[in-house]
Amino acid sequence: MFADVIVDIAHSETDRIFEYSFEDSRIVAGSRVLVPFGKKNVEGIVINVKSSPVYDKERIRPVLDLLEETPAFSEETLALSRYVAETCFVSRALSFRLFLPSEMRKGRVREQFVAFAELTKDLSFEEITASLNKTAIRQKQAVSYLQENGKTKLSFLRETFGVSAVNAAIDKGFISVTEEKRLREPYKGMEEIACGVDLTEKQTEAVNSINNTDKTVSLIFGVTGSGKTEIYLNLIDGALKRGKTAIMLVPEIALTPQMLKQLRARFGSVAAILHSGLSAGERYDEWWRLRTGEAKIAIGARSAIFAPVEDVGIIIIDEEHDGSYVSESAPRYDTVDIALFRAKYNGAKIVLGSATPSVESFLKAENGEYNYIELPDRINKKPLPDIEIADMRKEVRRGNNSPFSAALVSELKECLSGGNQAIIFLNQRGYSKTVVCTECGHVQKCEACDVSLTYHKEDDSLLCHYCGAKYKMITACTECGSKFLKYGGVGTERVVAELQKLFPEARILRMDRDTTQTKEGHFKILSKFAARDCDILVGTQMVAKGHDFPFVTLVGILDADMSLHFADYRSSERTFGLITQVAGRSGRADKAGKVVLQTYSPDNFVLHQAIRYDYKGFYAREISVRKATAFPPFTDIVRVLVQGADEELALMATKAIYSELQQIYTEYKENFKFFGCMKAPIKKLQGKFRFQVLMRIDKGRRDIMKEIYGRIEKYNKGGVSAYLEMNPNNLN
Ligand code: ADP
Ligand code: ZN
Ligand code: ZN
Repeated sequence: MFADVIVDIAHSETDRIFEYSFEDSRIVAGSRVLVPFGKKNVEGIVINVKSSPVYDKERIRPVLDLLEETPAFSEETLALSRYVAETCFVSRALSFRLFLPSEMRKGRVREQFVAFAELTKDLSFEEITASLNKTAIRQKQAVSYLQENGKTKLSFLRETFGVSAVNAAIDKGFISVTEEKRLREPYKGMEEIACGVDLTEKQTEAVNSINNTDKTVSLIFGVTGSGKTEIYLNLIDGALKRGKTAIMLVPEIALTPQMLKQLRARFGSVAAILHSGLSAGERYDEWWRLRTGEAKIAIGARSAIFAPVEDVGIIIIDEEHDGSYVSESAPRYDTVDIALFRAKYNGAKIVLGSATPSVESFLKAENGEYNYIELPDRINKKPLPDIEIADMRKEVRRGNNSPFSAALVSELKECLSGGNQAIIFLNQRGYSKTVVCTECGHVQKCEACDVSLTYHKEDDSLLCHYCGAKYKMITACTECGSKFLKYGGVGTERVVAELQKLFPEARILRMDRDTTQTKEGHFKILSKFAARDCDILVGTQMVAKGHDFPFVTLVGILDADMSLHFADYRSSERTFGLITQVAGRSGRADKAGKVVLQTYSPDNFVLHQAIRYDYKGFYAREISVRKATAFPPFTDIVRVLVQGADEELALMATKAIYSELQQIYTEYKENFKFFGCMKAPIKKLQGKFRFQVLMRIDKGRRDIMKEIYGRIEKYNKGGVSAYLEMNPNNLN
């Protein structure tokens, strides 16, 4: 037999299919195999098997090895990978990577064994100590430790008593070692007793509507706390009962443990978690549990849409408006698009849920493309918390230079003295956003990027939030040598420090990218907060979404208008969404909630719509602006981003691309709403200069996209790269 194989090579620009021969009948389309390639052996995916080859039979080489008995790809995921390659304009090899846990490639992780040490059963403890040399103190300690504590991880023993001592004791037969397969169960111990609730009438209506509609996609517009999660659980239950599987997506890794907890409570171990924060081994095990059908519910962030489940019955995308559902690196896919493919393939339903739907989704609901469900009230009929605007311009005039308004401080006092909890939100990690010289005004910048550096007090360094570069904190201006430096813009680290000064007794935790680096970092912080071992949680947008803490009665939003000033057509939408989301964390249970929203632009209409929770008013205005200005969802934004370490070369390539694309522009003039060539907003990133050709084209013109792609591909050479992006989440 012969197999068509796509080899896993990083820089294979083209998708050549290579033929190999095989005899092993376990090899099928979707299998991962090891094949000879040039002088090396590489991994590849079988995309097709056949009885006769196209290539010269004599020269076809055989498959060397079948990597796993169960094919990594199903018929569906193979088809989906082709769809991704075609619609995202990437190679098949690259599209495959979305589907496999990275550690599976190159065989980095297989089953995991852990070595344990214990005292030999052949000798008594007295016999062992008697035969140990008097000078072998470390060996004696190790042996005594085992006598007291019993079976212990070998690695721990070696760390504690030294490798040579422990090895010597093993060699002499005093310590015996056994290998045990370690079960990697992420978030073990979070299982809870299931507490099924009876659905409210509204919830039942929603479930029925989703099950009975002939539309693939349903949009639930439900305020925070309206019981969307319970609807999701019910739908998943229904899918499982019909013998199908489910995919449940949340926007942030931080939210996956919480969702997993609810799913485990309800469905036990058939829920599996897929996310990048797990250890390599855990991810591998969870992936295989899903692939083999042992687990039936995949939960995770964006990338879990590629979960290896078969026969999916329901796909749920919670907080569907969230920007994280669009991938920012190649393959640049939109999660909803992938979900649609899978839903159509399996006859499944998709549910999008949000308290602030994206204007794009809401338009589709309005047009009747989506089934529409509205949940205007919270389950407990509690009103949404009052949002008070604090005018920070007035605060400054009054001489208040702290990050907190008087209103927020007094609310905090009341909240804490009542034994309640508060969440303080701001979208800036670090201590100060910038470091500025007061003499010459110079702002410290990254050497590799055209962006300012953020001061991180904890490790006294300046960090570039774009490339991750770390610099030593300066003591004098690098331009003029002045020692008079000032901090510009407040970050979470500083907020914690200032809060601690104001409330010395309060227990404060910070949740941002810096404090959640470790695998279960999010989970630990949130658990502490949930257990009320913490009074104030300070954080970035990680604290904004989804969490349900009954004792939170106050939310402070420190920089509500920050995102308003971004030059991005979605900035109003994002601001509105963010305020609604963060505010929704307050007053979820019996206690009334309160929100203080600090701003330097208190008259802004978006803020006023947000404090009234007037989504529909916001939407009506926003959609008419988008229509009038020909922005998405009425057009697609298409960008060709050109980057290169050599500014001149990158610019030349950009100009060449621009003039080629001009031909397409001329041909399809009536479909173009904008066509221009310019520097990218961030001119330099990671040592590369950036230029762009920016276009706005009538919605859904894949044909034009394809032509554009056809023209630019050849410019990827000589240190210059040119990408095609459609509706990128980030227009930096
Ligand atoms: P959302 O996801 O819309 O923000 P949740 O699903 O988290 O809302 O529900 C808010 C609260 O209401 C949760 O504490 C949840 O346990 C509770 N809840 C949801 N549905 C019901 C129900 N049918 N009966 C009683 N409590 C419910
Ligand atoms: Zn200076
Ligand atoms: Zn940088």
